[in-house]
Amino acid sequence: MENLRKVFVTGVFRKRLVNAVDGVSFTISSGETLGLVGESGCGKSTLARVVLGLIPPSGGRIFFHGQEITEARAAELKKVRRKMQIIFQHPESALNPRMKIYDSLVEPMRIHRLVNNRREEKKKAEELIELVGLHKEHLDRYPHELSGGQIQRVVLARILSLQPEFIVADEPTSMLDVSVQAQMLNLFKEIQKKFNISYLFISHDLEVVRWMSDWVAVMYAGSIVEIGPVEKVCENPRHPYTLTLVSAFYAPANNVSEFTKVTDFKAARHLSGCKFYPFCLEANSVCKKKPDLKEVEKNHFAACWHL
Ligand code: SF4
Ligand code: MG
Repeated sequence: MENLRKVFVTGVFRKRLVNAVDGVSFTISSGETLGLVGESGCGKSTLARVVLGLIPPSGGRIFFHGQEITEARAAELKKVRRKMQIIFQHPESALNPRMKIYDSLVEPMRIHRLVNNRREEKKKAEELIELVGLHKEHLDRYPHELSGGQIQRVVLARILSLQPEFIVADEPTSMLDVSVQAQMLNLFKEIQKKFNISYLFISHDLEVVRWMSDWVAVMYAGSIVEIGPVEKVCENPRHPYTLTLVSAFYAPANNVSEFTKVTDFKAARHLSGCKFYPFCLEANSVCKKKPDLKEVEKNHFAACWHL
């Protein structure tokens, strides 16, 4: 991703431009996971949709296997898009409540003509459902007969039927119970190893991102303020915002819902300089200019004038 931007126009009487994604660049290698962490509202989900071409960027370029796909035509995109899939926070909405699991599961394979006959289709469906830790009998059920975790497994199986190389997972486990969540995260990892899949793994939960990722990007008010190997960023955060975030997260008696309210950055979005300026203890006049990411140690970047 190269310098991606997404601008929304809001307001009915007085129009206002919101920089939801404000110049985001990153690379994900095959078989690796980039975790994207940030408070709710920081632009993570918008970025996810721009990355997959579900909404067009206002600027920037998207590459897949070195080939630019930012403005690829629909026909070219269809092939590439099959290789790039997304899994959302609310799995229920991904399945038709009136369709049996079997029919939902095989639907994408039918659309993409990946199976030649009924027998092959059935075999494939059975393989897929077992791959995600469910049983053949589940194929005959309806979504309401399954738990949230089971449905998320079906959704994953559906995606896997298309043999994706890159999956954007947008808070895929945040609606699940903690115990189910851990199993699901492990399943994501197993699948990754088996098929050499790359993930952009989005979460507001630092612990989840740490468990899942090789690299982590910290997003704040539409920009990546710090990016690097996950252990380096978590153990040795350099950007003042990441420091706030990490210490808020690991503070005793803290919890995730408090973590999501570290700062009220919506008010800071319009700032042209560093958007952390209103909350930063180290801020001074130089911070009114936007800082670029710079390498603070090998492969570890942060955007702050005081580094
Ligand atoms: Fe704080 Fe300035 Fe660094 Fe922004 S650039 S994080 S305001 S010190
Ligand atoms: Mg979101």
